[in-house]
Amino acid sequence: MMDKITVVVPCYNESCVLTTFYDKIKKIKDKLVSEAILELLFVDDGSSDETLSMLRRLSASDKTVRYISFSRNFGKEAAIYAGLKEADGDFTVIMDADMQDPPKYIIEMYNMLKLNRELDCVAAKRITRAGEPPVRTFLAHMFYRLINKVSEVEITDGARDYRMMRRNVVDAVLALSEKRRFSKGIFSWVGFNTGWIEYENISRAAGDTKWSLWGLMKYAFEGIMAFSVFPLLLPLIPAALFLVSGIVLFIIAAVKGLSAVSGIAAALASLIFFVSSVVLFSIGIIGGYMSKIYSEVKSRPTYLLKEKSVSFADEAEIRIHEAQYTDVR
Ligand code: UDP
Ligand code: MG
Repeated sequence: MMDKITVVVPCYNESCVLTTFYDKIKKIKDKLVSEAILELLFVDDGSSDETLSMLRRLSASDKTVRYISFSRNFGKEAAIYAGLKEADGDFTVIMDADMQDPPKYIIEMYNMLKLNRELDCVAAKRITRAGEPPVRTFLAHMFYRLINKVSEVEITDGARDYRMMRRNVVDAVLALSEKRRFSKGIFSWVGFNTGWIEYENISRAAGDTKWSLWGLMKYAFEGIMAFSVFPLLLPLIPAALFLVSGIVLFIIAAVKGLSAVSGIAAALASLIFFVSSVVLFSIGIIGGYMSKIYSEVKSRPTYLLKEKSVSFADEAEIRIHEAQYTDVR
């Protein structure tokens, strides 16, 4: 039997690139035609532009195009999760709609997985960040260095979400039931053998990035908190320092008597500021983790569906029902 490759594409206001994307993917589909069926599964992440209506039209005209649509914008992480849950191919690809993930690598990924049984997943990595604002590049490098120091997982700098996975990897990723997801960490945490494809950074075909600097910072903090408890322990370092300082100051005051007290008073004043900031900082960190616990405990769904295209199987079923209904009449 032919392999089925499901390509999951998260889309948030991507109407200006969708046609280009679809045309390029169609070429890849044609090239693979003798080996595998390539199916597109778009996830409309609550777009406010023409994205959804374009997806409706595409899936009506092409049987290998499916879509699901969220009730509002839930973020790319939720879109990836929803897509993986819906995907039923032997191989599943995650890729962006904006052409930053070159479609030609789908063939390369597929060949790598077919030729090497040891590989479970092939992921894409950009080796440059040319075309990106320097501040973003700098912060990204800092983020990877930090998270790799403090977290339980190794996250490759430059790794994209663009990857092809065997069924077993998809099932493993879905088995992690956390609501607020950080896929980069999850992909690494589940293990399996990953092959890499490297390429130079490619800028968006059209439209703008959906990430603001603030959004990226929040994402980075979420990622660190999702895969490391190190920040929770961080206040222990100043706590130890202050304990030692306290003992030393006490000894000085006791030995030298009141003559040393005025100097000590000045030291104490600055110490109070330090200590307060450390205490507040610690409360902030605990608050960060608490908010994660809070949202996981509430266990609200990661996304809500508004609409779904009729799948192959469903359509066949509808036709059978229609036929029966006609017979009865
Ligand atoms: N995306 C999404 N929901 C969001 C933000 C982005 O589904 O809330 C999709 C977007 O449509 C694109 C992919 O995620 O297909 C990557 O987004 P973008 O290109 O803005 O990110 P960047 O490449 O700049 O990291
Ligand atoms: Mg992009």
